Amino acid sequence: MYINGEWSRADNDAGLDVFNPATGEKIGSVANGDQKDAARAIEAAARAFKSWSALTAYQRSEYLYDAYRIMMERKEDLARVMTLEQGKPLKAARNEVRYGADFLLWYAEEAKRVYGDTIPAPRPDQRFIVLKQPVGVVGAITPWNYPVSMVTRKVAPALAAGCTIVLKPAEDTPLCAVEVFKVLHDAGIPGGVANLVTARDPGPIGDEFISNPLVHKLAFTGSTEVGKLLARGAAEHLKRISLELGGHAPFIVFDDADPRRAATGAMLVKFLNTGQACISPNRIFVQRRVIDDFVAEAKARVEKMRAGNGLEAGVSIGPLVGPAAMEKVERQVADALELGATLVSGGRRLTADGLDRGFFYAPTVLSDVSEQMQIYREETFGPVAAIIPFDTEEEVLEMANDTHYGLASYLYTRDISRAMRVFEKLRFGIVGINDINPTAAAAPFGGMKESGLGREGGREGIAEYLETKLGGFSI
Ligand code: NAP
Repeated sequence: MYINGEWSRADNDAGLDVFNPATGEKIGSVANGDQKDAARAIEAAARAFKSWSALTAYQRSEYLYDAYRIMMERKEDLARVMTLEQGKPLKAARNEVRYGADFLLWYAEEAKRVYGDTIPAPRPDQRFIVLKQPVGVVGAITPWNYPVSMVTRKVAPALAAGCTIVLKPAEDTPLCAVEVFKVLHDAGIPGGVANLVTARDPGPIGDEFISNPLVHKLAFTGSTEVGKLLARGAAEHLKRISLELGGHAPFIVFDDADPRRAATGAMLVKFLNTGQACISPNRIFVQRRVIDDFVAEAKARVEKMRAGNGLEAGVSIGPLVGPAAMEKVERQVADALELGATLVSGGRRLTADGLDRGFFYAPTVLSDVSEQMQIYREETFGPVAAIIPFDTEEEVLEMANDTHYGLASYLYTRDISRAMRVFEKLRFGIVGINDINPTAAAAPFGGMKESGLGREGGREGIAEYLETKLGGFSI
């Protein structure tokens, strides 16, 4: 753990072992913290808040620039830790480190743009001034699928705003978080400003974040189920909260688009991180006239993908995170096939050549997917592309919006009027239009409906860590 600028183990600590999901081998061990450790970290963050929030934005910005530079210098080492710990191919891990570092850079810049307002007042002797001030101590919880960028996406805006933070990373990927905090330490960020508590049991840490009066804001990325649990707790104490939760992205291909280009895009984004991404397309709607071409291209693309250890060249499909993820994928595929889906490719666990030591599932394409199948409603979080035919724009908009999730969505069309119409009508926080990567540190990321509250990245991302204070002056 990293508390008050010092690395420590937990009291009575047997340690939290970390395993390579591709091989099952133990690759390290970190502190197994508990509620007392979280409370200690919160106290350190509350003490540090006084001096950190009193720095000028220029001073805080300098620390973040240094952290950015150090992270980029360590890009290769960090990427290797990520591949070992989380399983994604090395190339994807390098991309994630770059994306993670971008938040440090972007918020080093945004720190200096936290502007207030002056507002014309109704009385001649009155003046209104609006200040933006840091919320205070932040309790943050992050998932395993993007173990570096989900950390910097919270830490960077919080620190830029003048907040201090205590972060609990996912139990499957604490080593990446440790490496990020080494970067923050080496950038000279003062003790107590950013604290890390690693733990096997997340419940007590979350409880401490919720109940400790020194914490004023919760920032969470993970499942909708746990997000709701934390939101209920936060409501009890009326704490600020931002939530980045699950998704069930529709990917719509109209028949005026090039079906092969659309299939190339769909397969790239679907199998990114082995489908373990909140913006992963879960339902791929293809207009009937082009569906055969689309399916043929998807099959050809998928059959070229190689699963394996992400450290090996040519591997594009890493392991699933664990047995529960495998069970969910197998269950959804079996259910779809039983209810009439067609298996185009894949559809089985991979065990040959040592893959049985991890949880590998063949990249899978299903066509003729329909509404009554589990995969149509439930987030898959695995390497299964579910293709659904449609006839009209009106029909597909209805189907696409028919989900309680509202994070990412995609559409392919060459008709600009249709692109604008559908963009406006999709009830999702992010819409990729002929684009499969509508994300960047400078852009607001987040969901509607049960996909979350608030935004990370962009100008909006720092607003989550700021209070608005009105000054009314009589002169
Ligand atoms: P998860 O089970 O909700 O876990 C996320 C984090 O919450 C982990 O650190 C976990 O700790 C912790 N946690 C679990 N139960 C908790 C509790 N009772 N109190 C406090 N903390 C608790 O989600 P996941 O399976 O790791 O992540 C996958 C989900 O995240 C998917 O639904 C995905 O769509 C979503 N996601 C969303 C975004 C986004 O930006 N919207 C980005 C990435 C992922 P442990 O690791 O110890 O269980």
